[in-house]
Amino acid sequence: EPASDGRRDAKFVDFIDVEKNYGSFQAVRRLNLSVGRGEFLTFLGPSGSGKTTTLNMLAGFERPSQGVITLDGKSVDRLPPYDRNIGMVFQNYALFPHMSVADNVAFPLSVRKYPKAEIAPRVTRALDMVKLERFKDRKPTQLSGGQQQRVALARALVFEPALVLMDEPLGALDKKLREHMQIELKQIHEMLGVTIVYVTHDQSEALTMSDRVAIFDSGSIVQIGTPDALYNEPATAFVAGFIGENNALDGEVESVGNGRCVVALPNGLKVAALAIGDLRPGAPVHLTVRPERIALSNANGQSDNRLQATVDGCIYHGDHQRLLARLASGQVLTVKIGPEATMAAGKAIELCWPASDCRAFPAGAVADGKPSNTGSGS
Ligand code: ATP
Repeated sequence: EPASDGRRDAKFVDFIDVEKNYGSFQAVRRLNLSVGRGEFLTFLGPSGSGKTTTLNMLAGFERPSQGVITLDGKSVDRLPPYDRNIGMVFQNYALFPHMSVADNVAFPLSVRKYPKAEIAPRVTRALDMVKLERFKDRKPTQLSGGQQQRVALARALVFEPALVLMDEPLGALDKKLREHMQIELKQIHEMLGVTIVYVTHDQSEALTMSDRVAIFDSGSIVQIGTPDALYNEPATAFVAGFIGENNALDGEVESVGNGRCVVALPNGLKVAALAIGDLRPGAPVHLTVRPERIALSNANGQSDNRLQATVDGCIYHGDHQRLLARLASGQVLTVKIGPEATMAAGKAIELCWPASDCRAFPAGAVADGKPSNTGSGS
C-alpha cells in the first residue's frame, strides 16, 4: 500500500487469518489487519458487522476460532485479558459506584500492585488530563454522563498501556458533548502517542478522529484507509453509500475503456464515470456522485456530464442549500449549492460534473443489501 495510508509503524497489532464462528454462523470472516504503533484506527460499520467481536478477540474476551493475533510481535493466544496490558473504555462506563472518582482511577494501579507512593501522583496526572482533578472525591453518581466517561478514560490510561480499546465510548452522550469529547480524545491520543482501536457506527465520528478507518460489513473488512481515501476513493458501492452523502443512480453499462465507462440511464440519458471493478457492456451499474461535486452550469462551462434537470425543491441550511433536481430519467439528485441562489420549483437547470467525480460500481455488489467482498482486507 502507498505510504500515504496513515500507518505509523506497521504491525504493532496484527490479525492473521482470524475468524470467529458461533456455531455455523461466521461473525468474523478471515480477517487480516495490522495496526501501527501510535495509530488511531477505527472499526466502522453497521450493527452486527463484526466490530465488537473483532475488538473482543484483541481484548481477550473472545477466542478466535481460527488464526492468530499478535501484540508487539508476540501471540496473545494464551494471555488472559488482564495480562495483555490493554486499557479499555466502553459505552457503559462500568465505574464502581461505591468508590470515589480517585479510587476508581487508582483501581488498575492497585490491582497491578503499584507502590502506594506512586499511585497518588499517577491518579492526579490522569485526572488532570481529562480535566476532572477537582471532582476526585465525588462518587460516580454525582457526575454527568460526560464526566463519568472521562473517569472511565482516565482509568483506562492511568497505567500507561501501549494500547487502548474503545467500544462506542461516546455512544451514550448527546451530540454536542460527543463532539466535544471527540476533540479531547484526539488531543489525548496525540499527547500520549498511545495506540487506539476504536469502534463506532457513527461515520462522522470515525472520519473526525481516525488515522485510518476499517469499514466492516457482514463480518469482513471491505475497505481500510485514511478518512480522505475512503471519502474520495470508495472501493465498493457499500463504502460509497456508508461514508458521507452520495447520490445513487442505477443504470446500464454502455461502453467501457481506459478505466472509464459510459452509463445509460432511463430515457436516453448518458453519464460518463470512473469504472470501479468489473464492468461489462449491458451490465447493471450503480453510479455515485456527491452532492458537493455537482455544479449548476454556466454558459461556457465544460464538463464530461451536462444534464438537463428541473428543480423539485430547495432546502435552506443557513450556510448552504440542498437542491433536489429531477432528471429526464425521473431520477432525483441532491445538489449542494450556495445559500444565496433562489431556486423556485419547476425551474429548468443544467447539472454538470466531471467523470472523475462519478463512480460506477457493479450493481450486483449491493443488490439485496449483500456486501461486496472484493475490498482489500489489509
Ligand atoms: P453493533 O454495532 O451492533 O455492536 P457489531 O458490528 O459490533 O455490532 P458484533 O457484536 O461483533 O457486531 O456481532 C457480529 C455478529 O455476531 C452479529 O450478527 C451477532 O449477532 C453475532 N454474535 C455476537 N456474539 C455472539 C454470540 N455470543 N453468539 C452468537 N452470535 C453472536
